[in-house]
Amino acid sequence: MAQTNQFECGSCGAHLEFDPKTQGMKCQFCQSEKIIPIEAQPIVEHDFYSAPKETGWDRATISFQCDSCGATISSEIRTAGKCTYCNSPYVKEMPARKDLIRPETLIPFKVDKDNVNRLFKTWLGKGWFTPSNLVQLSRLDLIKGIYTPFWTYDTNAFSQWTAESGYYYYVTETYTVNVNGRPQMRTRQVRKVRWVPSHGQRQGFYNDVLVPASRGMNQELIYKIYPFELNQLIPYKPDFLSGFLAEEYGVDLQQGWGTAQGIVNASERDKCGKEVPGDTYRFLRVQTNYSNITYKHILLPVWIAAYEYKSKTYHFLVNGQTGEVQGFRPISWAKVALFVGAVAAAVIGLGYFFYVY
Ligand SMILES: [Zn+2]
Ligand SMILES: [Zn+2]
Repeated sequence: MAQTNQFECGSCGAHLEFDPKTQGMKCQFCQSEKIIPIEAQPIVEHDFYSAPKETGWDRATISFQCDSCGATISSEIRTAGKCTYCNSPYVKEMPARKDLIRPETLIPFKVDKDNVNRLFKTWLGKGWFTPSNLVQLSRLDLIKGIYTPFWTYDTNAFSQWTAESGYYYYVTETYTVNVNGRPQMRTRQVRKVRWVPSHGQRQGFYNDVLVPASRGMNQELIYKIYPFELNQLIPYKPDFLSGFLAEEYGVDLQQGWGTAQGIVNASERDKCGKEVPGDTYRFLRVQTNYSNITYKHILLPVWIAAYEYKSKTYHFLVNGQTGEVQGFRPISWAKVALFVGAVAAAVIGLGYFFYVY
């Protein structure tokens, strides 16, 4: 397949790429710049139950599907033949799919590669238990900007709940102690709970429940680089993706809704729990019904990166909008031991303090 050039530089004919610094297109050869016009287009929420428009991404790309982690990444250029996420060599080239739901909106990269380098060094230096020479010896060996697929769901939630409300009351109990070998009667206040059945209902609206649709991204880290400021979503245009990778969603619309329901259910349970009258409660049961479900498919900017320290690889992610860094760091067991020692010393010291005074 010949390399396609959807975005040609007007001056030299080379490839234009999206530049996070200017938020426009920039030629990598002659440095010419081009503005990306943004149409004032309303952001549309799609009805969950009507058939989605599967029109593809309108982007001249090659897709690479990884047999190990299942991620499909699209790119304008043929890369080294290894999966960006899991480094597996079992990657097959696919034609760009036309049957994908097109992203409604996206947030363009705001953090560029130089920023990532700086943020990475600062983040490395922050760990309490990281080895002292970590910053000097670590070597970044992968850094890639990926537009990562997400679903967002809006829904009304109507919850009906039943529970047992508990009300505290106190009774006076008598008990016997031995004083100088002789029994003596004493009294004390004991807390008891009176249980009565209760029930109720509540109505809530959830806006933009965010669900990752990536197959390749580390699921533990991705939630940690939240939040994304979704009020900065702008209408999708393939121009913003130029020069970056983009992952095709590997979690479909239905599966994503399953995850969103889990998030809403947990929140509804929590809120219903707060509405149960009484001092405490037990046996809370919540039944939630959903209506007016809508969705959007969106792309969010994430830098995925890895560094090497003492011939081991550690991964981290950077939120491409806010610069939040989250990842794995080696632990210095010597520092942990020192800390544990210091805590023990402090506890003994406190004990001594209370003993003396
Ligand atoms: Zn040029
Ligand atoms: Zn992979």
